[in-house]
Amino acid sequence: MSTIQTLPNYINGRWCASPNATDYLDVINPATAEILAQVPISPAAEVNQAVAAAVAAFATWRRTPAAERVQYLFKLKNLLEEHYEDLAQTITIECGKTWAESKGEMRRAIENVEVACGIPMMMQGTNLEDIATGIDEMMIRQPLGVAAVICPFNFPGMIPFWFLPYAIATGNTYIVKPSEKVPLTMQKIFHLLDKTGLPKGVINLVNGAKETVDAILDHPQIRAISFVGSTPVARYIYSRAAANGKRVQCQGGAKNPLIVLPDADIEMTTRIAADSAFGCAGQRCLAASIAITVADARHSFTEAIAETAKNRVVGNGLDKGVEMGPVIDGRSKNRIEELIQQGIEEGADLLVDGRQPNISGYEQGNFIRPTILQNVNPSGEIARTEIFGPVLSLIHLDTIDDAIALVNSGQYGNMACLFTSSGAAARKFRYEAEAGNIGINIGVAAPMAFFPFSGWKESFFGDLHGQSNHAVEFFTQTKVVVERWPSNWSRQF
Ligand code: NAD
Repeated sequence: MSTIQTLPNYINGRWCASPNATDYLDVINPATAEILAQVPISPAAEVNQAVAAAVAAFATWRRTPAAERVQYLFKLKNLLEEHYEDLAQTITIECGKTWAESKGEMRRAIENVEVACGIPMMMQGTNLEDIATGIDEMMIRQPLGVAAVICPFNFPGMIPFWFLPYAIATGNTYIVKPSEKVPLTMQKIFHLLDKTGLPKGVINLVNGAKETVDAILDHPQIRAISFVGSTPVARYIYSRAAANGKRVQCQGGAKNPLIVLPDADIEMTTRIAADSAFGCAGQRCLAASIAITVADARHSFTEAIAETAKNRVVGNGLDKGVEMGPVIDGRSKNRIEELIQQGIEEGADLLVDGRQPNISGYEQGNFIRPTILQNVNPSGEIARTEIFGPVLSLIHLDTIDDAIALVNSGQYGNMACLFTSSGAAARKFRYEAEAGNIGINIGVAAPMAFFPFSGWKESFFGDLHGQSNHAVEFFTQTKVVVERWPSNWSRQF
């Protein structure tokens, strides 16, 4: 008889079962439908305990020199490298993406730890002598106190690292609320965080869902909240946390367009566009969802992308040679299939149909093969809604101006990409496109850890994004000191 583990929380340096939870959810492998664990929906009482631990730890942690604080991150970096394969495997098992994609994800997580190791430099303030004769002024950065992050399912290893390393390196104490769909990766990572010897209470893990999130949003001692997830929830969290006087940054959903100009290298463009649309089964906030072909790009690109989509190897991400895994759950699969049907009803032609595939050995998995709709109505629902699955919509337009106008008419602004060999077209696009992450002959314009993850419009609520110097600013408050020292001091010595 197999026993299914109920996941504990990690509060004040200790692993503890959730004593107050009454609701539990199954954590399910999306490729096999195997139940992997049960996750508690931690109620407010446990959020309160985590906050109390984080508040107590802050008093000493903020006084720990920055150069000393980052020593824990150096240790963490080594531990993450040591357990790299195992962490990647866990991501694949609970989230479905291929092992190679999971390794890429963990690499991005580690890069953020590396960047945050530079906090003694990045956290420095500024000063100016003699703002008036004999008076000096300085700006210093101080940590806020307790901060928390609420995470989505699609990058269980990476997304917490857009925030956590910067938060603690700048002297804050921290609470992570992973997605209830994929809590196993953070369990493993917290075992590594525990091994670094971080003082108790500096980092805390509270599992749960909406009830847990609401307790975080309303807790008066949490000073700052980072969120990554869908736009409706981002908007809700931004409003409620801001109404409670907190500093908030919320990264939301997306509908990312690619424009293909006739002078693009079609072979390269197709390969990159397919990786963007179908990589991680389309469950990336930087996944291409619309490809706009301009003028003569239409035929060559359409044929090539259809061929590539049909040939993509779909299966369990742990199996060798698999290029695309399942989507996260049955609800998601149904939703995606309904949206494909809606696209057809809106007049699109189904060029490649990936619905209801037969993946031998994984009949219970949530699989959809790559799907392509062509002649999609630019103002229809399918061209506007985030699908978050391996579905690419093709739209044909006559000019680059029309294509940019369509890009800019969308509600989201997470990413927009252009494929061309013209520098002038590239510059025009970079200048005019209303999105925060721009790719030129790049299909997933994911900012490296030393740049901010710059979503715009309804892909982002707030002003400071995750990663790099934005994270340092987000997790610190500036203090300005104006100093004058009487000049009679010398008489004393
Ligand atoms: P989601 O919004 O459903 O859930 C995200 C988190 O919010 C989870 O931890 C969940 O427990 C919590 N939550 C869900 N509903 C809530 C509610 N009503 N009240 C309070 N908390 C709630 O998102 P998801 O499905 O896990 O992730 C996919 C979404 O995330 C996509 O829209 C994707 O585009 C977006 N995403 C955005 C970025 C980015 O950087 N912009 C990155 C990754 C994912």
